[in-house]
Amino acid sequence: MSDSGVKVLDAVVVGTGMAGLYMIKRLNDRGLNIQAIEAGSGVGGAWYWNRYPGCRADLPIIEYSYSFSKELEQEWDWSEVMAGQPEIERYLNHTADRFDLRKHIKFDTKVTDAIYNEDSNTWTVKTDQGDTYTCKYCIMATGCLNEPNYPGFKNADSFKGDIYHTAQWPREGVDLTGKRVAIVGCGSSGVQTIPELAKQAKELIAFQRSPVFTFPARNAPMNPKFLAQAKVDYSDIRERQRNSEMGVANYSGPRRPKDSNKPKKPRPSKKILDLTPEQRKQEVKDFGINALSAYVDPYFNPEANEIACDLYRETLKDILDDPQKAEALSPKNYPLHCKRPVIDTEYYSAFNQDNVSIVDLRVNPVEEVTPTGLRTNDAEYEFDVLVYATGFDAMTGTLKKLNIRGRDNQLLADRWKDGPRMYMGLQTVGFPNFFTTTGPGSPSVVSNVLHSIEQHVEWIDTCIDYLLENNIKTIEPTIEAEDAWVIHVDKAAKGSMMTAPTCNSWYLGSNIAGKPQGFMPYIAGTKTYREECDEVVAKGYEGFALTS
Ligand code: NAP
Repeated sequence: MSDSGVKVLDAVVVGTGMAGLYMIKRLNDRGLNIQAIEAGSGVGGAWYWNRYPGCRADLPIIEYSYSFSKELEQEWDWSEVMAGQPEIERYLNHTADRFDLRKHIKFDTKVTDAIYNEDSNTWTVKTDQGDTYTCKYCIMATGCLNEPNYPGFKNADSFKGDIYHTAQWPREGVDLTGKRVAIVGCGSSGVQTIPELAKQAKELIAFQRSPVFTFPARNAPMNPKFLAQAKVDYSDIRERQRNSEMGVANYSGPRRPKDSNKPKKPRPSKKILDLTPEQRKQEVKDFGINALSAYVDPYFNPEANEIACDLYRETLKDILDDPQKAEALSPKNYPLHCKRPVIDTEYYSAFNQDNVSIVDLRVNPVEEVTPTGLRTNDAEYEFDVLVYATGFDAMTGTLKKLNIRGRDNQLLADRWKDGPRMYMGLQTVGFPNFFTTTGPGSPSVVSNVLHSIEQHVEWIDTCIDYLLENNIKTIEPTIEAEDAWVIHVDKAAKGSMMTAPTCNSWYLGSNIAGKPQGFMPYIAGTKTYREECDEVVAKGYEGFALTS
């Protein structure tokens, strides 16, 4: 602590989700003097805030768990294949306690400013609780999906009932028993919560703008034998994750008995165009709608994509009892694989319940919120509770909201006014010693994000060690390297369904009015990206300017 009450540190870590916790551990193990700052009252980040009913991992939890500690892998027993939010939050609390990380964290505190001082090569970080820290390294572990998006309907504040956002669900929970509930938004969060809300509510109205392609999670209680085998196999699983392009090993362990004569899922390398129409239908019959997510050609071939979309819509007619609901829930006008895959548990069967209805906002858009409900251009709806599942100002929202200033007092939000510019998703020009985990331009949200988090944390930690060992005062990208990386990221996305002309998604920023449009993640794959990151290091931090 300096005489002025300013705490002098090596590093400030902002956020204590999966990235922040691991970052604290690495830097603490290195003996650095650190402070982590957390807006919530507990650890967990996305898994702290998103506690809506039905919230769960969309990957098998064996794959979506920390790999950095063999002890943690062995001692934690997961109870479900796709663990739910409460269990993941418990796991992250256990991680914080097991590695004694809490002592570094200031909870219920929001960072307001992070300002670079050119004379001292330090960052001054201020909080809404009146704290001031100076540090050599400022690390934003604020996540990609942190800033909730509200739709900004006319007269939004006039509603007299309760309003919730899935990304800010109350810790004490919400009792919806016997209530008339409306939900706006049918993306991943809406799809997960609708079946749960439908169980409680007297009546549930889903206001849907874009129907999604969603595939059953096939969650199940964790088989103890499977878990025991996974514990034996963890190092192999992690190795396979590292050698994959999504950070996913597709570990199937001993779940399928060897003598099972159940048909195997279509191989991921299989092309839908290689099958006859009868064979395609037979595969959907054998494996359910999930068969349509397994073919490789719909990812890049519009003709294959359209065949898969048609079959998807056909299948919905069989799943849903009411043809009008099937029509409303049928995704149209954008390709499969354009948005982040949505994984559900009994989503469509919820719409077969009599208490669940759907309003197609493509046909009848919202006009305004009223004191008792919502008015669309053809009807007025009354309800007691309004739930927004309307997503996030993704990837850049939080960073652009803060007063982050680099060299020459430049505001990060100004530098990114036409879209984020980063080198490898790790650093941006003009902001020395300022790092982001899973930033724009890295695989982050188009991979097993925890796998990508661990890779970034390790890269940043190794980089800081290198700087300290070699008495290097600052690191930041060169403008040439950053420009080249932005082009490289754009090129990787070309030809993918994620950038198809009819595709709108938060990857592109198109879910937020006025946000610059551009594909933000890097889709070349985690293995490719890791090799590129390692090569940069091997070449003495190529593309970065280092000053002594
Ligand atoms: P989202 O995918 O952006 O979905 C938001 C939904 O709200 C969409 O249906 C969107 O419609 C609708 N919406 C937004 N503004 C609207 C408006 N003005 N009027 C009407 N509808 C509006 O957000 P999300 O569901 O929260 O998911 C975001 C991401 O979080 C996911 O892609 C995933 O990466 C992550 N997530 C992960 C999990 C998990 O791991 N289990 C769970 C939940 C979320 P349009 O599509 O027409 O814009």
